[in-house]
Amino acid sequence: MKKIIMMCTTLLVCFDASALMAQHQLRFSDIDALPLVLTDAQIIEQQRLFGEYPPIKTVHLTLARGQTLARLLAPFQLSGREMHNLSGAMEAYLSAKKMKIGQVFTVKLTDTQIKSVTIKVGFSTQVTLLKQGVQWQVQTTELPTTMTEKAAGGQIDGSLYLAAQKQKIPVDVINRMILAFSHTIDFQREIKRGDHFKLVYRQQNLAQNFDVSKVVQLNYAQLTLSGKIHTLIYFEDDNNSGAFYDEDGQLAQSFLLKTPVDGARLSSFFGPRMHPILGYNRMHKGLDFGVAVGTPVMAAGDAQIDYLGRMGSFGNLVRLKHANGYQTLYAHLKGFAKGLRKGQFVKQHQLIGYVGTTGRSQARHLHYEVHHLGKAINPLSLKQSSQRRLDGEQLASFKRYKQQQLEYLSSIDAG
Ligand SMILES: [Zn+2]
Repeated sequence: MKKIIMMCTTLLVCFDASALMAQHQLRFSDIDALPLVLTDAQIIEQQRLFGEYPPIKTVHLTLARGQTLARLLAPFQLSGREMHNLSGAMEAYLSAKKMKIGQVFTVKLTDTQIKSVTIKVGFSTQVTLLKQGVQWQVQTTELPTTMTEKAAGGQIDGSLYLAAQKQKIPVDVINRMILAFSHTIDFQREIKRGDHFKLVYRQQNLAQNFDVSKVVQLNYAQLTLSGKIHTLIYFEDDNNSGAFYDEDGQLAQSFLLKTPVDGARLSSFFGPRMHPILGYNRMHKGLDFGVAVGTPVMAAGDAQIDYLGRMGSFGNLVRLKHANGYQTLYAHLKGFAKGLRKGQFVKQHQLIGYVGTTGRSQARHLHYEVHHLGKAINPLSLKQSSQRRLDGEQLASFKRYKQQQLEYLSSIDAG
């Protein structure tokens, strides 16, 4: 009888363990070893093998939708104070408010006692919180990485994205290419079936896990559109200032961007129109870009922040002062880039805010205006101003760099 009760207890424990796992969405593959109740003989065997008891086990936990860190770590029974201190210690690296679904927590434990919690913050930084009584000691580690140059190319049959996907080129590379060419090419109209592209980009990989990578830079991009070749080369000059140049070393970046958002769809043009809310005909002094709320808005050019805050029907507004009497204005923003202040200097393409619907705005969009000497002008009419050209030693160094990119490309041409 006693034996049967004991078996039942064991079964119950097992049953509870799997229920617990299901409840916290753990998978067996996630777990090197589950905290189990060991017999005396097993403990002695563990001590012989590991020289310590209990052995340290590693569990990888993934944050699920609607789950809090406290719920995720519930199986390990931290006290309220321990949990509070853990969140506090983690806050500087990974704010509880910003934790995303899928965030992985690597927990090391003995039996059910947590020894440490490790999180990855950023691409190659790892933070370990070591439990010291009820406190947590923080250790940050930079993971080793490697850099590789990748060459790729393909033919555009459907969209550029489809073509890139076929060649397993990261979307980020394509976005960078579109951005770089946006000064000179109209992607809506000029790309046709049968056009092709070639790219060289620099990628950073985690040495321990080569599958984890990020795009660092687009080095070289070439588009052949209806037989005409367009080439851009990213080059850092003596002042470490990087920009895209054409094949001859001429700066290929316009003074102001025509489209300060990615994936922009023009929803309203410059000129007179019927106002959707006011209902009467008035001058539309800018361009409207219909894009999703939260889409990053970039500074159209190097500038100083002239205004940042709410302004009547514009809602949240950023106004930038550029050289030569130019100003740009970005309205209806959801919010501003972190840490941005009036008087601060920003670079072209720098994040300044996010698309929203604040102020008098009927639908989510970015309202973008360009002014020259106090008068609104059509952003689409912005001409590429005469730009500087590399010369002397800089040009020689640019040519060597270009040659190197062509060599990377020859590897795919041969293959
Ligand atoms: Zn507008």
